Amino acid sequence: MFKIFLKSIVVKSALYMILSGIIMGIVFLPISIYLLGIDAERVYSFTYISICLVSGIFVGLMSFLVVRISIISAINRLSNKINDIAENILDYQKGNIENINGCKDCYVNLESNDVLGKIAKRYNSLLYIIRSLFWRHDQTDKFFSILNRSLKIDDLDKNTVDFICSVTGAIAAEIYHLNKNDELKIGYAKGVHISLSNSKIQSLKDIIEEGRLISLRDYKVEVIEFGTGTIKPTEVIYFPIQYSNMGIGLFVLYFDTYISKEKRDLIKYILLNNYSLAYQNALSYEKIQDIAAFDELTGLYNRRFGMKRLQEEYERTKRSNNCLCLIMFDIDHFKNVNDTYGHQAGDYILSSFAKILKDNFRIEDVIMRYGGEEFLCTLNNTDIEPACQKIEDVRKKVSETTFNFRNIEIKITISAGISSFSEQNRSETIEELIKKADERLYRAKNSGRNYVCAI
Ligand code: GH3
Ligand code: MG
Ligand code: MG
Repeated sequence: MFKIFLKSIVVKSALYMILSGIIMGIVFLPISIYLLGIDAERVYSFTYISICLVSGIFVGLMSFLVVRISIISAINRLSNKINDIAENILDYQKGNIENINGCKDCYVNLESNDVLGKIAKRYNSLLYIIRSLFWRHDQTDKFFSILNRSLKIDDLDKNTVDFICSVTGAIAAEIYHLNKNDELKIGYAKGVHISLSNSKIQSLKDIIEEGRLISLRDYKVEVIEFGTGTIKPTEVIYFPIQYSNMGIGLFVLYFDTYISKEKRDLIKYILLNNYSLAYQNALSYEKIQDIAAFDELTGLYNRRFGMKRLQEEYERTKRSNNCLCLIMFDIDHFKNVNDTYGHQAGDYILSSFAKILKDNFRIEDVIMRYGGEEFLCTLNNTDIEPACQKIEDVRKKVSETTFNFRNIEIKITISAGISSFSEQNRSETIEELIKKADERLYRAKNSGRNYVCAI
C-alpha cells in the first residue's frame, strides 16, 4: 500500500518536503543553543522541540503548496491539452469534426525559462506536426473524392486546378500534358492567358524531362497576363508530373506570396502523384469510350454508337417543328478501287471521303460509318431543298477530287439517297426513314451512279 503511495511523484515530493521541514526543525535546536544563546535546558524541553518540529512540518507543507500551485498546475494544464488532442482525434474519427478547423485549440501558452518551458515548446512543436499531418490527411481525402468524380481528362484537369488553387491560395495555375509524340498541350489554365512560343514550349519540356521541381521568386518571375490585365507574381512553381518515372506533364502555380513548405510538399508528394494515376485512368477511360463509339479507320461514329446519336436527333426533331434529313452515301464501284489499287488504297479512300464528310457537315450533325463503304448522315434542322443542294455539292466535290495514294492518282464517285422527317410525315419511324434513304440510294445507283436521289 505504502509502495503504491510512493509511486506518485506528487505524494513523494510532499513527503520529501515535510521530511526536510522536520530536519530543519531538528537542526534548529543546536542553532538555538550555540548561535542564539538560548538555554540548553529550555531548548531540549518538550514544548521547544514540538514547536521546532511543527514549524518544520508547516514550512515543508507550505513549500509543497507553492510547488503544487506553480509547477503541478502547469503540468496539469499540459495534461488537459494532451487530453484535448486525444478527444479531437476521436471526434475526427467518429466524424463529429469535419476538418482541422473544427478541432479544439490544443496549443499551450507557457512562458517559462526552464525545463517546463522547454517541455511546453516541444509539446507545441509536436502538436504542430500532428496538425500538419491531419491537415494533409484532410486535403488528401478531399482530393481523392474529387479524383473519383473526374472520369474525363477535362474534368480531372479543371477539378485538380480548382482544388489546388483553393488549398494553396494560388492566384493562377496551368496544367500541361506531354503526349507520346512529344507534343506539349495545355490541359487547363485558370486565371492566366498563355501564349506558347516555341522557345517557351521547349523550356517547359526541359523542366518535364529534368523531373525536378523549380521555384522562381521575385525578380526572376516574369509578368503574366492575368484577368483583363497583367500581374507580376511573387513566386512561380513548376511541378513536373511523372508516371512510371516518365515525365507526362507539368503543373504551374502562380502566387502573390511565398508558398509554405507544407503546402508545396502536399502538392509534390501526394496530390500530383495521385493526379498522375487518375490521369492514366482517365486516358484509358477515354480510349475505351473512343473504341466503343468511333470507327478506327475513318474516325467517324461506328454504326452502334451512330444509331444511338441518330435516335437522339430523331427524338429531338419530333419534339420540334424542324425537319431532319437522312442521307445514305455509297462509294460507286468501290470494289474496283480495291481490286485495281489494293486494299490499303481502298482504306485511304475511305478515310479521305470520311474527312470530306466531316468538313462539310456541322458538328451537331450525325456522321457514321454504316457499313463497309456506306455512310449514314443527318442534316439537323435542315429542309429537304437545302439538304439536296448540300449533298449535290458534296457529290460534285468528290467527283472533282483527285485522291493521291503513294503517288497513285485515284478518282471516285459517290451516290446518295435522301429521306426527310418533317411536319408531313411525323408518324414515320427511324427504321422507315433509313429504309427510304436506302431505297433512294438504290435508285441513284440504277440511274447510272454519281447521282443524288431524294424521291
Ligand atoms: P456499287 O457501286 O454497287 O456500290 O459497287 P461497289 O463495288 O462499291 O459495291 P460492293 O458492295 O460490290 O463492294 C463493296 C466493297 O467494299 C467490297 C469490300 O471489299 C469493300 N470494303 C468494305 N469495307 C472495306 C474496308 O474497310 N476497306 C477496304 N479497303 N475495302 C472495304
Ligand atoms: Mg459501293
Ligand atoms: Mg455498298
